Amino acid sequence: MSGRVIVVGSVNVDLVVRAARLPSIGETVTGGTFERHHGGKGGNQSVAAARLGRPTLFVGAVGDDAFGAEARQALAAEHVDVSRLVTIPEAATGVAVILVDAQGENMIGVASGANADLVPEMVAEAIGRLGPLDGDVVLACHEIPTGTVAEALRVGRAAGATTVLNPAPAAGLDAGTVVLADVLTPNRSELTLLAGTILGDAAAHEAADDPVGVAKRLLVALPATDGHAIVVTLGALGARIVRREGVVEVPAPSVAAIDSTGAGDAFNGALAAAIAERRSLEDACRRAVAAGALATTQAGAREGMPGASAFRAFLGEPDPEPRAPAVAVPDSRAATSSEQEPRSPIAPEPELRSPIPEPDPGPDPEA
Ligand code: ADP
Repeated sequence: MSGRVIVVGSVNVDLVVRAARLPSIGETVTGGTFERHHGGKGGNQSVAAARLGRPTLFVGAVGDDAFGAEARQALAAEHVDVSRLVTIPEAATGVAVILVDAQGENMIGVASGANADLVPEMVAEAIGRLGPLDGDVVLACHEIPTGTVAEALRVGRAAGATTVLNPAPAAGLDAGTVVLADVLTPNRSELTLLAGTILGDAAAHEAADDPVGVAKRLLVALPATDGHAIVVTLGALGARIVRREGVVEVPAPSVAAIDSTGAGDAFNGALAAAIAERRSLEDACRRAVAAGALATTQAGAREGMPGASAFRAFLGEPDPEPRAPAVAVPDSRAATSSEQEPRSPIAPEPELRSPIPEPDPGPDPEA
């Protein structure tokens, strides 16, 4: 039986002004156009998992304001269970104010608001009420307090879930939090920052040229990480699964990328969804890489998250028999032992399956 994805993280409203150029200090630039988008890594990753058909819950916080009500409604409209989305009185919903010029350069100011008020007790309570989490995945990102991330991973793990940490942003994360993740999913710059924090400056410098080697050293340096994996995402080059015992390359399919915003969120949501489907980490990464690639072919972050049918078409998989949409997420499930696959989904695959169709590393944007 497949499990649920429980995302613990941030939700924001993005206010975007596009103008011919960015203002300098004290200046007003007029003539812009305004857009509003739903964002926040936690919110986006929830939508990524839910669009792929996985029962998904979001644990986070909004303020008691109009943006909060809209953010909740937007997640619910994507079939994300928002019953654990807390409304914090007196707090403002997280807002990102984004200025973009004609060349696509931007300036961003973030007011975390309620995201910063999501304390560990709220998350422990929200996850605790879900009952046993065997077969489920807890996916956390770091746009909420570090102690809350650690608590989410700790409580999730204690209840039997597989834990995934997207260390974004990586600043402020410590080794004690990182070791609570069965799977850690840094991109190249997040790996560099983590390596600097945990291994020192020399490792941070090496991460640019040798992300896989540095990821391996990170894993070896952290206590109690036997069986854990670091999945480093490398943009158009795809991802690398790094375990103590070896490395698996997962190339990205070649796509006509137009907007890489949200690629990492698509990757993480799809990865968690696939692990919750009891797929091996290799298989889950192949799917996550495909979802990330597909997201780059659409404009926008949350808007660009692939839907299940486009995703299956991209993978060359047939549509399943029609069934009721996954809307309701029960608090606890009575999965019988006969429904469980015996192997841990994050254990190395005994034999590699064939890669997703037409794997092609494509051009290296960093070359
Ligand atoms: P982030 O968005 O967090 O910076 P990455 O840039 O590493 O993370 O992208 C995450 C994933 O999205 C990659 O592992 C890859 O699967 C996919 N991806 C990103 N950019 C491209 C691209 N230009 N072509 C194909 N896939 C891409």
